[in-house]
Amino acid sequence: MSGPDEHLVRVPGPVNAHSHAFHRILRGRTHEGAAGAAGDFWTWREQMYAAAAHLDPAGYEQLATAVFAEMAVTGWTAVGEFHYLHHGPAGTPYPDHEMERALARAARAAGIRLVLLDTCYLSGGLDTDGRAVELNATQLRFSDGDAAGWANRHTALRAALAADEPATAAEGAGLVTLGAAIHSVRAVPPSALAVIAGALAEGEPLHVHLSEQPAENEACLAAHGVTPTGLLAAQGLLTDRLSAVHATHLTGADITALGEARCSIVMCPTTEADLADGIGPARELADAGAAIALGTDQHAVVDPYLEMRALEHGERLHSGIRGRFAPAELAAAAREGGLRSLGLAGNDDHILVDTASLRTAGSREAQLPLTATAADVHAVVINGIEVARDGIHTRLGDPAALFREFTYEHREFA
Ligand SMILES: [Zn+2]
Repeated sequence: MSGPDEHLVRVPGPVNAHSHAFHRILRGRTHEGAAGAAGDFWTWREQMYAAAAHLDPAGYEQLATAVFAEMAVTGWTAVGEFHYLHHGPAGTPYPDHEMERALARAARAAGIRLVLLDTCYLSGGLDTDGRAVELNATQLRFSDGDAAGWANRHTALRAALAADEPATAAEGAGLVTLGAAIHSVRAVPPSALAVIAGALAEGEPLHVHLSEQPAENEACLAAHGVTPTGLLAAQGLLTDRLSAVHATHLTGADITALGEARCSIVMCPTTEADLADGIGPARELADAGAAIALGTDQHAVVDPYLEMRALEHGERLHSGIRGRFAPAELAAAAREGGLRSLGLAGNDDHILVDTASLRTAGSREAQLPLTATAADVHAVVINGIEVARDGIHTRLGDPAALFREFTYEHREFA
């Protein structure tokens, strides 16, 4: 018999490049209905807005702490939080970036790296004829009024986060950085795009939801005569700092443009399956020159291994061909692709993975992306600190208990 540690392999820490922490509230609560009657993306979005409507800074921090702790114990060592819930009810601003600082405190408590993707969200979308739609009551909480309002808040937020920066690694020093996001071409008009790009710091990442649903493409074509990718290209936004999230429904020209610009593409395979978005052309994008990253998005699943696996499974089901992404490419999407997408430098973050479990015994180490799950993540080390061991957070305990406490104290979500 060999000792238990001989079954552990050290794996560079996976990076979760796309998250909306509060969507965790919806897990296991959106699937009712007979065949074909469980709703679509747009009815799911109404449920998501209902959840967003009730959150205040204290509740947001409690919820995000539970979600970030779940990410940490499952092996995600960094997260890009695509954050647009900026303001209070009816869009009244909080006095001092309370929602954003709540997320930063939650990440430091969980010991996970956070790139806070401060999102510009200005309009309620485009209707199918391409006309701008008014913000609804919940969406008022997302909006800064115009792009200049977003840019001013973004600059002030950078200073506020710097002022909150703790002194020691144990308190979370160095874990939180700032990035930017355009919610989508549905929610941000073309005239605002250049203003946003002009407000970015050197090397600051920029993310955008891109062509997740055919309706977005149809509305964009009706309004502007180009695809969402074409619209971003016309505004000069296709660069290697841009991450396109989902990129599900693309034309051949879109794929070529995103690849030639060396954009990052954040695939969220378990979310795209859950929401019936479709299977994006990840292989074609990678072949064209784009860098693939992975994200858990709505957190129906929080597990780096299942995200890697779902990317390849989607490719296989769609193409009838195995090995569209080699196991090493899946691992690179979860690690290097995520670091690139979020503008993070290389680091020593890592996880220890059990190669002798019910799932992994007998697997070749290089093929763990096709066999392991988060249950095989034995330990997680971020910024030199062991933050999790065997599914339990070393400081916060069981993340499931944190989430149960949140729903107990906030019965409106139960
Ligand atoms: Zn998203």
